[in-house]
Amino acid sequence: MYKDFPEFVTSEACLQCDGCCRFSDDKSVWRPKVGKEELTDSIRNDIGEEFCLRTIDKNNQAQCVFFRETNNKCSIYPNRPFDCRLYPFVLLKEKNRRFLSVHKMCPYVSSKHNSEEFKKAVCEIKKYMNGKSIKIFVSQNRHLFGEYVNYRNELEVLFEIE
Ligand code: SF4
Repeated sequence: MYKDFPEFVTSEACLQCDGCCRFSDDKSVWRPKVGKEELTDSIRNDIGEEFCLRTIDKNNQAQCVFFRETNNKCSIYPNRPFDCRLYPFVLLKEKNRRFLSVHKMCPYVSSKHNSEEFKKAVCEIKKYMNGKSIKIFVSQNRHLFGEYVNYRNELEVLFEIE
């Protein structure tokens, strides 16, 4: 399912950033949500409420249980959930409609916004989201769509998802 996933943010940019994988609290809407098919042995025991990855309190943050502060890396990177792969693109639910949005606060997004590179990335993610296996996955895991009510102004809707 992830074979043709179009990566947008470079690993280099991700590793220099201190935004992802750390949340304000253990109920944060930004905690990664996990699809039912993604409950592999490495993840199964670390699922908390609402199919979100569990966090641990550290340095006044709720850090994803798989985040390693020593190297700023994800310890399950090859098996990380779809929600993590997708970021800075975000599955958004509003009333009865569902969208793919982008988190404008991601430093990489804000540096590329309105660039040709960003437009190309949006085209590629749209094509990917229209693939047969990902459409089935998303339709069977509606809990992956968050409401982000308190962060709505940080999200820009890109296109609707059926
Ligand atoms: S699973 Fe990995 S990429 Fe996803 S939030 Fe946790 S540490 Fe970050």
